[in-house]
Amino acid sequence: MTGDLKYLGHYIGGRHVAGGSGRSAPVYNPALGVATTQVAFASAAETRAAIAAAAAALPEWSDTPALRRARVLFRFRELAEQRTDDIASLLTREHGKVLSDARGEVTRGLEIVEFACGIPHLLKGEYSDAVGRGIDSWSLRQPVGVCAGITPFNFPAMVPMWMFPVAIACGNTFVLKPSEKDPGCPMLLAELLTEAGAPPGVLNVVNGDREAVDTLLTDPGIGAVSFVGSTPVAEHVFRTGSAHGKRVQALGGAKNHMVVMPDADVAGAAHALAGAAYGSAGERCMAISVAVAVGDAGDRLVEAMKAELAAIRVLPGMAEGADMGPLVTRAHLERVLGYVATGVEEGAKLVVDGRRHRVPGHERGFFMGPVLFDEVTPAMRIYREEIFGPVLVVVRVPDLASALELINRHEYGNGTAIFTRDGGVAREFCRQVSAGMIGVNVPIPVPMAFHSFGGWKRSLFGPLHIHGPDGVRFYTRLKTVTARWPSSSKGAEFTMPTMT
Ligand code: NAD
Repeated sequence: MTGDLKYLGHYIGGRHVAGGSGRSAPVYNPALGVATTQVAFASAAETRAAIAAAAAALPEWSDTPALRRARVLFRFRELAEQRTDDIASLLTREHGKVLSDARGEVTRGLEIVEFACGIPHLLKGEYSDAVGRGIDSWSLRQPVGVCAGITPFNFPAMVPMWMFPVAIACGNTFVLKPSEKDPGCPMLLAELLTEAGAPPGVLNVVNGDREAVDTLLTDPGIGAVSFVGSTPVAEHVFRTGSAHGKRVQALGGAKNHMVVMPDADVAGAAHALAGAAYGSAGERCMAISVAVAVGDAGDRLVEAMKAELAAIRVLPGMAEGADMGPLVTRAHLERVLGYVATGVEEGAKLVVDGRRHRVPGHERGFFMGPVLFDEVTPAMRIYREEIFGPVLVVVRVPDLASALELINRHEYGNGTAIFTRDGGVAREFCRQVSAGMIGVNVPIPVPMAFHSFGGWKRSLFGPLHIHGPDGVRFYTRLKTVTARWPSSSKGAEFTMPTMT
């Protein structure tokens, strides 16, 4: 504790380590608007100590049979499931999202652990008998080495679990650098992994900022870097990590469009849209932030959305019946409010203005109500830029071709959705749209753990998506063996072998 504040350092080699850099930052309870924790910021030397602990654990862990590594993950899953309420309430206290949503986040994270428990099967290679006379060939997947993960504030439990369970199941060891805004959950997960039987150094946590991140990106001891966060930082991570010889997957920002066709059940679409746009106060990389109303769907959709917004209960995340909590920090709240002012200046029609929403007893909390803009054009900043708050913009277009053109021209291509009753229209949309994850009458099409998650365009830098089969590909190196056991050597061969 420092005064009334809890103090959070690092977790290196299976032990809590106090920060020694002299740099730290407050972590807030967003519903109260007060700091609850002081989190240490790692120096380059402290980050290197975490990399060294992971490197020391690597030989034994990568040599441990996959079946035994999986058993540690089975135990971790059981422990984390038993502690779901603790993890979720810590998450709500630091992030602000409502408790039921926090529980859902923990569940989605644990589904990745369940996937990773199947690692003996997932690591099976391919075998070709007799590729030449007396010659067999097979492939195997081996760990990359020490891997690093850098994660955002908006899913402090799930996004770390997109990474480390798959990485360590594959035989790697790991250094996690969580968001400095809500670092409590990642630390609790690391403690639970140790309790589940992971040897010290298999998962290390360094808290901090750019100094820790840049050390992970440049240190020769790191083999692979997974990043999830905003696009400018994703691009920096991808360029710097790649220039230092690491494999990198860097997931960035989003502006997800949901198309509502004139034949759709507009009331149902509006209901789905309300959850997708304002759930978690819009702080989701798969949140819908643009509604594309096609033809005469526009007026009906905006009318239905007005009723939906009036019913959204904006309350502290721990409160019974809360639909939407506060934003993560005062600075982020002010940034989002700034975008609302910009939208008004740009000439968009402000249909619902949640800027003055107050929660009695929580006057210092980082709250705002839902905001809805209509008649938004592609030139406006509120359309082009990621706001990452409870702000939905409606763009009206005449037909499906214009909707597709709009989405495909946007800088981001994370997720998108279409609401329609026409299978042919939905099929055309899925085939033509430039985005990584598509929903058909599903507003937030987050792939399940056994598929992979990732966007297109400037929503993902690097060739592989995260978790699922791509996760196993990312965290392993492929090796192919061609073997012959000759009874006697024929001597040197100077032509390209053709295996006949
Ligand atoms: P952020 O980019 O500010 O931070 C992400 C991580 O990078 C944090 O750990 C942070 O400490 C670190 N970081 C921040 N600035 C840095 C810098 N200059 N150099 C090195 N490291 C730096 O993102 P955020 O605000 O925590 O999260 C919100 C963003 O994440 C949104 O843009 C959202 O769309 C995106 N996101 C994307 C996905 C996805 O799957 N594509 C998922 C979740 C969040």
